[in-house]
Amino acid sequence: MESFVCTTNPSHVIFGPAGQSSSQLLGLLERRTLRRALILSTPGQVDKATTLEQALTPNAVGVFSKATAHTPIEVTREAVDATQALEADSIVSIGGGSTIGLGKAISIRTGLPHICIPTTYAGSEMTPILGETMDGIKTTRRDTAILPDTVIYDVSLTTSLPQDVSITSGINAIAHAVEALYAPDTNPIIRLMAKEGINALSQALLVITTTPQDLEARTKALYGAWLCGVCLSSTTMSLHHKLCHTLGGSFNLPHAETHTVLLPHTFAYNSLAAPAASRDVADSLGHAGGDPVEALNGLLDRLGACRTLSRYGLREEDLGKAASIAVQSPYGNPRKIEGKLIHDLLRRAWAGESAV
Ligand code: NAD
Repeated sequence: MESFVCTTNPSHVIFGPAGQSSSQLLGLLERRTLRRALILSTPGQVDKATTLEQALTPNAVGVFSKATAHTPIEVTREAVDATQALEADSIVSIGGGSTIGLGKAISIRTGLPHICIPTTYAGSEMTPILGETMDGIKTTRRDTAILPDTVIYDVSLTTSLPQDVSITSGINAIAHAVEALYAPDTNPIIRLMAKEGINALSQALLVITTTPQDLEARTKALYGAWLCGVCLSSTTMSLHHKLCHTLGGSFNLPHAETHTVLLPHTFAYNSLAAPAASRDVADSLGHAGGDPVEALNGLLDRLGACRTLSRYGLREEDLGKAASIAVQSPYGNPRKIEGKLIHDLLRRAWAGESAV
């Protein structure tokens, strides 16, 4: 067997039975003598945050419900001010990657413990990674101090997740696991998690698409999101994440939707240079011995996912600029990055053509 180094970040996970996140959280706050939790949410999820605040009384000091995609610095400043004014001693984020991003941004600035209750499948709760936006520019950093202290998974909070966000946040997580399979610092432990994560999430999403209230599928999706988040946390991402960050950061494309359109295209680019990862992706998607790109295309088609970047506002004349930004700084990738081929890849994704 190969020799390897495996660094998984320490985190405490409560994979709880449905409907018990507030009692689990209350027990956790009591054990840690935390008496003044500030609860975070997006505006759309404020009801969940308020219900949680009531359940925690008197251990909660308020709700801050302005979490926004891409963690804009102005929102973080306002939230840090609120944290200090309320003399909060802990941060609880209930929501998807946007809310968890705000929780990480407050926690790294104040040193307060951060507890996550994820309600999408993006996997951010398991990573020490924070992307923040200032003056329209998004920068990403890694720091072990960013990693949330505890994650509580409660399936009952995910039945309200709309179909489209279920699919795109789930494919965003699958993309973490796919890139972990060929990462320069991958290892057998992470590959186990990646294959299990892809398999669990893909099966779960197919059920959720037809039966959104299926608790077993929703639970399996959270389990897959957890595993895929660990993959992102523990390895270096390559072409796929680089292109998504370029399109999100420089062209304001939506995060999870862009991941969803691009994944088959970026995997097609890399698959011949990463034969073991290709076998693993095909196996994990139930196409053992088959073509992994066909398997990814088939999954997205069965989920009814949007496959066209132009629908998200990318213009044809932006493709050249996007390709040249994406190839600028060298980064690990199984196949050499060639500007012309990346431009072709983006054009196919822009036009909604199949990945080849
Ligand atoms: P999101 O958090 O932006 O949520 C999308 C929408 O769904 C929001 O309007 C939200 O209010 C709503 N929503 C969330 N959960 C819901 C529920 N259960 N019921 C009803 N509505 C619900 O989406 P996301 O895809 O989870 O996160 C995207 C963000 O996360 C991006 O900014 C991305 O950069 C970041 N992210 C970070 C990491 C990391 O490791 N740092 C990993 C993945 C994604």
